[in-house]
Amino acid sequence: FVADVREDQRVVSKAWAVKAGLTTLLAVPILAGETTLGVFTVHAPGGTAWSAEDRALLASLAGLAATAMQNAAKYAEVVARAARLRHLAAVSESISALDTTDVMQRITDAAATLAPGALAAVHVLEPSSGLLRHAVDSGPEWEHLPATPPAEAGLQGLVVEERRPVLVETPVEHPRTRAPQWWAARPGASYFGVPIVTGDTLVGVLTYISRQGAPTVEVQEVLGLLAAQAAVATQNARLYQEAGRRRDVAEVLARLGRELTATLDIERIAALLAAGIAELVDARVTVVFRRDPETERLRALAWTGAAAAVVQGLELAPGEGMAGRAVAERRIVVTRDLLDDPAVHFTPPVRARIESGGYRATIGVPLLAHERVIGALAVGVAPGSEPRAAELQALEALADQAALAFENARLYANARDSLARLHEAQAQLVQAAKMSALGQLVSGVAHELNNPLSVIIGYGQLLLAREIPQPLQRPIELILSQADRMAKIVRNLLLFSRQRPPERTAVDLNVVAEQTLALRQNQLALSGIEVVRELTPELPPVAGDTHQLEQVFLNLLLNAEQAILEGQQGGRITVRTRPAEAGRAVEAQVEDNGPGIAPAAFPHVFEPFFTTKTVGVGTGLGLSVSYGIVQEHGGRLGVESRPGCTVFTLALPAVQAGALPRPAAAPGAPGEPLVVEGRAALVVEDDAAVLDLVVTLLGQTGWHVDVASGGREGLERVRARRFDLVVSDMRMPEGGGEEFYRSAILEDPALQRRFIFITGDTVNRSAWHFLRDGQVPIIEKPFQPALFLDAVRRVTTSLTPST
Ligand code: ADP
Repeated sequence: FVADVREDQRVVSKAWAVKAGLTTLLAVPILAGETTLGVFTVHAPGGTAWSAEDRALLASLAGLAATAMQNAAKYAEVVARAARLRHLAAVSESISALDTTDVMQRITDAAATLAPGALAAVHVLEPSSGLLRHAVDSGPEWEHLPATPPAEAGLQGLVVEERRPVLVETPVEHPRTRAPQWWAARPGASYFGVPIVTGDTLVGVLTYISRQGAPTVEVQEVLGLLAAQAAVATQNARLYQEAGRRRDVAEVLARLGRELTATLDIERIAALLAAGIAELVDARVTVVFRRDPETERLRALAWTGAAAAVVQGLELAPGEGMAGRAVAERRIVVTRDLLDDPAVHFTPPVRARIESGGYRATIGVPLLAHERVIGALAVGVAPGSEPRAAELQALEALADQAALAFENARLYANARDSLARLHEAQAQLVQAAKMSALGQLVSGVAHELNNPLSVIIGYGQLLLAREIPQPLQRPIELILSQADRMAKIVRNLLLFSRQRPPERTAVDLNVVAEQTLALRQNQLALSGIEVVRELTPELPPVAGDTHQLEQVFLNLLLNAEQAILEGQQGGRITVRTRPAEAGRAVEAQVEDNGPGIAPAAFPHVFEPFFTTKTVGVGTGLGLSVSYGIVQEHGGRLGVESRPGCTVFTLALPAVQAGALPRPAAAPGAPGEPLVVEGRAALVVEDDAAVLDLVVTLLGQTGWHVDVASGGREGLERVRARRFDLVVSDMRMPEGGGEEFYRSAILEDPALQRRFIFITGDTVNRSAWHFLRDGQVPIIEKPFQPALFLDAVRRVTTSLTPST
């Protein structure tokens, strides 16, 4: 109470009070507990006295005012809280929306309305780049702030670092401030940042800038709630995206699964796989490797991606690179930097290639089929993205499917190969059976022809050797040349059907090839045919019969020559020799650039009498004879042909040099038939005409000849007297040659060196084995008289004269 304001120093508004005549004053504090809410002042005219009652009344009025004021403040606060809660509720509602940007916008808007003039923004952390990307803000005032600062920079960086709300009351002075001018333009503004955290991951920062002073504790709390809402929204969006991605992955996997199982072509599977991975992973490069089971190297089968050129045709040593590591560890492996990871090894050339690929983070996946490694995948991840657990799972699932597809393809290829081999074996069997049946038939026919041919040729030559009338000369010559032609055919037929194993000596196929070429050299040159020799020197020898093999080469050469001439003038024959089957065999090829074998003729070329040539040129026996010879040698004769290229390939088993004798030297030239006046010869032959011929030949050279029509009769003759020469047929109804020979030499051991066999029997050569060591000449029917007489000469010169 102040009785007179003029006399109290504490009163401020003295002039006003004096002028108004109100110089007495009573002031009562308005108190709420200990807090003073205001003062209740009553001015009164000077001299007014206040009773104790008045004062008590005023004090109680001040108490009422205090209550009213308290209620009003509480009411305002309740209204404001309700408004904030409404905002929060709206934000909460929107969180179920899946567009995070929209949710974040609502959150920033809600934050900005917490105080007049406040600003808010959300920055999102990008884990791959480490940048805080400016996501949303509450208004244009943010414009001049950096949009994507690094996560560790500025005041937001402080929040990222501390992972809890950070309040900076005077940002302009703070050392971490990146925009001091911006803050200087807003004196009194404060910074408040709240981390947005889902689980253990910081996903962003909610920034709140109050225009004046620090935000109240309550506002800070609300901002904390808004940040939590932002976290939930982010989480929801991620889960949704993840679910979507999983669905996409499942769809891609299902589709690839269908595609992969729909093909059995390994290259195609690899290409599909590489393309599929590109769909599943954000890759810079994808390589599909196949593992070679023998060398264990990984060979790239397919590649995709921006850096595909780097891995094109890549080959990795065992354990090399991420693919090699995945194979070695039999599990999926991941590295952040394949060039700087001590667990990843490279050979220098591969390292150099990878260095230019522009990718470092890499995934290696083994392809396992039934615990067997069949290949691997390598995925170079695009820079900035990181392989996620879901991607790795998808890759593993895809790798399993791919491995199965590869395995199926392998099994299918195996089955197909077996089938092809089976077909081939069947065809060979059929061919062999056909050949053997034909052989029997042919040899029977040939054998029957030999006797008459022997007689025609024998007497023909005898006639020519005599003085004959001139008009007969030419016809006899013609008869002889045609008989010779028949003899050649018969000889070929027998060669084709012969079943005894040929002579075996160590033969150099190069020599055989050269000798045969020498025979045709002139003719080939005349026809303008170029001969190319691709003969491998130091060829391992083969076990064989030189003459027969020459026959084979000759047939092949003749065919090539004829084929070329049939086409255009000129041409080329290539003769090739080389070791095959890892040195276990020797291969020879005769290749020509003639018109090729017509598809219709192809299956028949090895059949006897199959020919496409005119009568007189072709007999259709060359190839069948050659086939028979090669088979007897334990080898193979095959052909491949297309227009412009026909290749006959002959393969024979190789032998160790020195394991077999060299071919015997050819016998010396026949000398003059020996005149053996008075010596006795026995001819045993069931064919009367042949018998007649032999008797004539021997008679002409001075022999005294005795005859017998079979072995038994022959033996009687031998028992009756001593002979200097016995000429015998092999196959006779009345006692065969072998039995006769054995009995005869028992009777007279000297006869062992005086026998000559004449035979048309080339089928059953096993019968000849008994002659092996006997050095008994064998003359094949039909024979040239000169050849027969030469044999007679050789047998009789070795004779110790009979007494
Ligand atoms: P010939 O030569 O007497 O006809 P072959 O048995 O030697 O009998 O050959 C049979 C057939 O095979 C020939 O008539 C010919 O149609 C075909 N032939 C063989 N070699 C060749 C070749 N180098 N080029 C084209 N056709 C060939």
